[in-house]
Amino acid sequence: AAKESGRDRVESYDGPVAARHRRGLDVERRLRIALAKGDLDVHYQPILALDTGRVVSVEALARWTDPVLGRVGPDEFIAVAERSALIGELGSYVLNRAVGDVRGLSEQYPDLRVAVNVSPIQLRAAAFADHVAVLVARHGLAPQRLVIEVTESLFVSDDGVGLRNLQRLRRRGIEVAIDDFGSGYSSLNYLSRLPASILKVDQVLTRSIAEDPRSLSVLRAVVELGRSLPMQVVAEGIETQEMHDIVRGFGQCLGQGWLYSAAVPLDQLPDAITAIQARETIATA
Ligand code: C2E
Ligand code: MG
Ligand code: MG
Ligand code: MG
Repeated sequence: AAKESGRDRVESYDGPVAARHRRGLDVERRLRIALAKGDLDVHYQPILALDTGRVVSVEALARWTDPVLGRVGPDEFIAVAERSALIGELGSYVLNRAVGDVRGLSEQYPDLRVAVNVSPIQLRAAAFADHVAVLVARHGLAPQRLVIEVTESLFVSDDGVGLRNLQRLRRRGIEVAIDDFGSGYSSLNYLSRLPASILKVDQVLTRSIAEDPRSLSVLRAVVELGRSLPMQVVAEGIETQEMHDIVRGFGQCLGQGWLYSAAVPLDQLPDAITAIQARETIATA
């Protein structure tokens, strides 16, 4: 209660806009320190082939618990990093960790892929694709085991550099995924323009299917569209057995969501994969 009245007092003193601005500056200052110290963490969320129950990929998701600010969510600190020119350093850090971590699992999981989220700002750096290729070679990871996830926001002000980087990545054998498709104002036009091999259907589309037959038709159409391009289709945000059954019924889809596992630290990943595969093997037997 003391803390709450403290915050109220601050907001009535100089207003919520100023408070938000101050929070942004605090997050930026602490994030700079965290990056310098290597205090950021990377967790991994399994992605499975729904018809076999095998985990084929993991998505790397940045995690940060600051000693002063506590836990800060990626939606907040990624936005701050993009505004403050820290995103290049953050992105390189996550990429390097993800590639190294998955390379380290090669003996146990020789084909496991890792998907890394990349900001449009990173993609607009002319040397991005070369930088990634060098990284993959240095770690000795087969290029097709790395997936770069991009969103449509790439197109908001792309001058062509981002697109060229994606084409260069593909030429080197690195996979590209369109993330969060169906959220915001995804246009069908850029589906054919992006050199992507994987389509990740946003959780807003997945989540509504249990309630509404029309959104089920939309989801089915998007899945079929993706496959016809042809792309591998991943349904994001699968939280219930019902959603799982529906998406699995489409055939040949991949799934990701809390029903299977949240993102976990690297040392918990083998157990998470084993648990999913044991469960899915029984379910599909
Ligand atoms: P995203 O790339 O779409 O990642 C999926 C998000 O959905 C993750 O949120 C994940 O924890 C969450 N999620 C997974 N399964 C479920 C589910 O069943 N239900 C629900 N409601 N959510 C689920 P998270 O980790 O909070 O990340 C949020 C966003 O932050 C990511 O969305 C991505 O856009 C961005 N992000 C995270 N790490 C990085 C990074 O290293 N670099 C960049 N540029 N962006 C990142
Ligand atoms: Mg993603
Ligand atoms: Mg997504
Ligand atoms: Mg997202």
